[in-house]
Amino acid sequence: MAASEDPLSVAIVGSGPSGFYAAGALLDQDRVDVRIDMYERLPTPWGLVRSGVAPDHPKIKSVSSVYARIAAHESFRFFGNVDVGGDVTREELTSRYDAVIYAVGTEGERKLGIPGEDLPGSVAAADFVRWYNGHPDFSHLSYDLSCERAVVIGNGNVALDVARILCSPVDRLARTDIADHALEALRHSEIREVMVVGRRGAAQASFTTPELRELPEFTESGVDVHPGEVAETPGEDGLPRVVQRNLKVLREYAASAPEPGRRHITLRFQRSPVELRGAGRVEQLVLGRNELLTGDDGRISARDTGEREVVETGLVLRAVGYRGVPLPGLPFDERRAIIPNEQGKVAGGEREYVVGWIKRGPTGIIGTNKKDAAETVRRLLTDLDSGELRRHGGDDPAAIEKWLAERQPGLVTEQGWQLIDAAERAAGEPHGRPRVKLCSHDELLRIALNPDDAEG
Ligand SMILES: Cc1cc2nc3c(=O)[nH]c(=O)nc-3n(C[C@H](O)[C@H](O)[C@H](O)COP(=O)(O)OP(=O)(O)OC[C@H]3O[C@@H](n4cnc5c(N)ncnc54)[C@H](O)[C@@H]3O)c2cc1C
Repeated sequence: MAASEDPLSVAIVGSGPSGFYAAGALLDQDRVDVRIDMYERLPTPWGLVRSGVAPDHPKIKSVSSVYARIAAHESFRFFGNVDVGGDVTREELTSRYDAVIYAVGTEGERKLGIPGEDLPGSVAAADFVRWYNGHPDFSHLSYDLSCERAVVIGNGNVALDVARILCSPVDRLARTDIADHALEALRHSEIREVMVVGRRGAAQASFTTPELRELPEFTESGVDVHPGEVAETPGEDGLPRVVQRNLKVLREYAASAPEPGRRHITLRFQRSPVELRGAGRVEQLVLGRNELLTGDDGRISARDTGEREVVETGLVLRAVGYRGVPLPGLPFDERRAIIPNEQGKVAGGEREYVVGWIKRGPTGIIGTNKKDAAETVRRLLTDLDSGELRRHGGDDPAAIEKWLAERQPGLVTEQGWQLIDAAERAAGEPHGRPRVKLCSHDELLRIALNPDDAEG
C-alpha cells in the first residue's frame, strides 16, 4: 500500500478523446498531485479518432497529437490490450486506485426494427466504419460492393462519412490511412450511386455545413437533391444559422442533376425504411413517405403517410446512431443507454466517475468531450475536498504493472504503442500516406511486444 501523501491514483478506462481530456484536466490542475494509468481494450489508443473519424479527414485525426502530448507526461502510463470487465474486474480497479474514470464510449448500435433487417447486405454503418478504419476486431469483415446502388439510412455526419468513402475515387483514398483491405475492396466496387435517406426534412438533418459542402469533391458527378424536397418555406429566417446554411447548399445541389451512370450521392428526405426484401440477401428497400408535424414544443416529427416506394439496392447501411453497452457491475440506464451519473459521478458508485459518450450519450464533436471531462474532473476534486471521495492509497505503480503483466501477458505499454506508431508511419512514408495501419491483433502485438522485430 502507498502512503497517504502519495499522488492521487486514478485509473481511466478507455483511451478515446474523453479519456485523454480527463487525463489532461487532472494533470493540468494544481490542487493535488496525481498519477494516471489509462486502460484500453485495444493495443492502440485514441478510440474513435483512430477507428471512427473518416480517413479522408486527416486534419480532424491530427487532434491525436494533443493526446500524444498528454501521454508523454511523466505521471501518465498507458496499458493497452487490457479489457476491463474481462481481463481485469471493476472491483480490482477500485481496490487498487483512489478513483476510476470510465471513458468507454458507446460500442453498440441502434437498430431500425423493420422486417428483413438481418438479411445479408443490411449492415451497421458502425461496423463498416471500423472495417475501413482498420479496427482489429472488424478487419475480417467483407462487404459485397457489386451492386449499383448503396443506401445509407440516417441524416448525420456518420451517414455522410460512409457515403463519401463509398463514392470517393480510390486514388484519393490511397493517400489516406484507410485500411489496406478496405482500399482493395473499394477498388473493385461497382457502386455508382449512394443514396442517403432521412426520416425528417432537409431542415431537420443533423449534418454540419462543411461536411455537406465538401460532398461533390468526393464524387464523379455531384450530389442529387430533388428541388421539391428543399423548396423555400415561410419563416426560414428564424431557423438556426447552421440550418439556413445547409439549406442554401442543398438548393445549390438541387439546381443541377448529376450525369447518370457516373458516381454520385443522392440525398432524400422525409422517408423511412419500412422493409428490406430479397431472396437470401437484400435486393430491395421499401421506403415509406413521411409528412412533417410540429408538436406543441415546436419539435418537428415525421408521420408515415402510407405511401410506399421501392428502391433497388444490394447494400443498406444503418447509420441511425450508436448505443452504450453496460459494463459488468456498473449501473446502466437502459432507456438512455448511459451509465447514470451526477456531473460525472457514477450513481451509487463509491470512487467511480464517467466521461464522454458513455456519460451523456453519443452526441457532439470531439471538442465537446473536453468540456464534459472538465466537469467530471471538477466533481472528482470537489468530492476529494468534501471527503465524499476517500483516498485509500491504492497499490504502488510497480506492483500494478507486475499484476497486469501477469494477468495479460500481451500487455501493451506506451513504449509498445510507440513501436506500433513508428512502424505504421514508416510504412506509410514511401507512399505519401500518414500511416499504413496494422489491422490485426497478431500484427499489432508482434510489433508492440518485440522491439527487435520493430527495428528490423
Ligand atoms: C464514425 C464517427 C465519425 C466521427 N467523426 C467525427 C469528426 O469528424 N469530428 C468530430 O469532431 N467528431 C467526430 N466523431 C465524434 C467523436 O469521435 C466522439 O465525440 C468521441 O470519440 C467520443 O469519445 P469517447 O472517449 O467518449 O469514446 P470513444 O472515442 O469511443 O473511446 C472509447 C474507448 O474506450 C475503449 N473501451 C471500451 N470498452 C472498454 C473496456 N471494457 N476496457 C478498456 N477499454 C475500453 C474503446 O476501445 C475506445 O478506445 C465521430 C464519431 C463517429 C462514430
